[in-house]
Amino acid sequence: MLKEKENLFQLIVEAMPNAIILANSNGSISFINKHAEKLFGYTRDELTGRNISVLLPQRFRENHPIMVKHFMSKPEARPMGAGRDLFAVKKDGTVFPIEIGLSPINLDEEKFALASIIDITIRKTLEERETLHIKAIEAQNKELEQFAYIASHDLREPLQSISSFIQLIASDYSDNIDEIGQESIKYIMEAITRMKNLVQGLLDYSRLGKKAELTELDCNKIVEDVLTDLSFAIIESKAEFDIGILPVLYGFDVELRLLFQNLIGNAIKFRKKNTIPQITISAEKTKHEWTFKISDNGIGIHPDYFHKIFTIFQRLHRREEYEGTGIGLAHCRKIVDLHHGDIWVESEPDKGSTFYFTIPIRKEKV
Ligand code: ADP
Repeated sequence: MLKEKENLFQLIVEAMPNAIILANSNGSISFINKHAEKLFGYTRDELTGRNISVLLPQRFRENHPIMVKHFMSKPEARPMGAGRDLFAVKKDGTVFPIEIGLSPINLDEEKFALASIIDITIRKTLEERETLHIKAIEAQNKELEQFAYIASHDLREPLQSISSFIQLIASDYSDNIDEIGQESIKYIMEAITRMKNLVQGLLDYSRLGKKAELTELDCNKIVEDVLTDLSFAIIESKAEFDIGILPVLYGFDVELRLLFQNLIGNAIKFRKKNTIPQITISAEKTKHEWTFKISDNGIGIHPDYFHKIFTIFQRLHRREEYEGTGIGLAHCRKIVDLHHGDIWVESEPDKGSTFYFTIPIRKEKV
C-alpha cells in the first residue's frame, strides 16, 4: 500500500507543470521532479540528500535555515517571499528570479515542505521593459508639457499686441476702410479670440497639477458649484439632472472641479437638436476606487473615436456646429492620470454617451 502511495505521489508530482522539490524539516532534499532537474540543471541523484540552500544564491544561504525552521514551526500552504524578489541559482551558476508556493506535507509522521517553483525571468524582463517604457513616456510627456508651457506663455504677448492693434485700427480708422476691409477685420478678431482660447487652454494644460495638493473633497459640493458656474448653459438648454449621492474623497480640488466642469459642460453642449438634455451623475464604490459615471442623451460618439477624443485638439465637429477648442477631454485625461485613475467613454451615435472615470481611494493625505 505504501509503495502504491509513493508511486501515485511520484506520478502526480511528475505530471505537474512546475518544478517541484520536496525537502524535509532540515531542508534536506528528498525528491525533485523532471521539471526541477531541467530548471536547475542537476540530475535527481545529484540533488537528493543535499540541502536545499544549494539552489539559492550565496547571499540568501545564511538566513535560509531560519526560514525553513519558521515554516516548519507553522506549516501552512502559502506563497513564499511576499513583497520580496526571490532568486535561485542553477548548477552552472546562473541566478534567475523565481516564484515559490510552499505546502506542508506529512509523510510517515515526518514533516516535509513541498516547493513548487516557477522561473519568472520572462515576466520580470517584460516588467522591467514596461517600467523603462513608462519612464521614457513620462520623460517625453514632461518635455512636451514644458514645451507647451513655454510656447503658450510666449505666444500670449505677441497675440495681445496683434489684438490691441487690430482693435485700434477698427476703432480709429473705420472711416477709411471699405466694407471688405471691415469684414476682414471682423474675421481677424474672431480668429484672435479663438487663438487666445487655444493658447490659454494649452497653458492651463501644462499647468495642471503643478501646484496641486491632495485635500478632502466633497464631490456633492463640487458638482453643485459646477452646476452654478454652468447655469447660463443649463437655463438655455433646459438641461435636467439626476444626481446620485457622491463621495467625499482625497483629490486635487481645482483639477477635480475642472474635470466635472468639462464632462458636464460637454454633456450639455453636445445635445441633440430639439431634445432636452437629460444628464445623470453617479458614483459607485469598489474595493480600491470610486467609479464616476456621467451619462447624457446627446449626439453620441462613433466607437472609432472613443480613444481619439482624449487627445489634445481632437474635435469631431466643425466650429460652426459646436464651439470648442478640443482641449477639454485632454484636460480630463491628465487630471484623472494625476489621481492615478482611468477615464473612458461608452457611447452610441444619436443615443447618448456615458463618460466614466475612476479615482483610487486614499485613506489619508499622501
Ligand atoms: P471640445 O468640447 O472643446 O470640442 P473636448 O476635448 O471636450 O473638446 O471634446 C473632444 C470631442 O469629443 C468633442 O469635439 C466632441 O466631438 C466629443 N465629445 C465630447 N464629449 C461629448 C459628449 N458628451 N457627447 C458627444 N460628443 C462628445
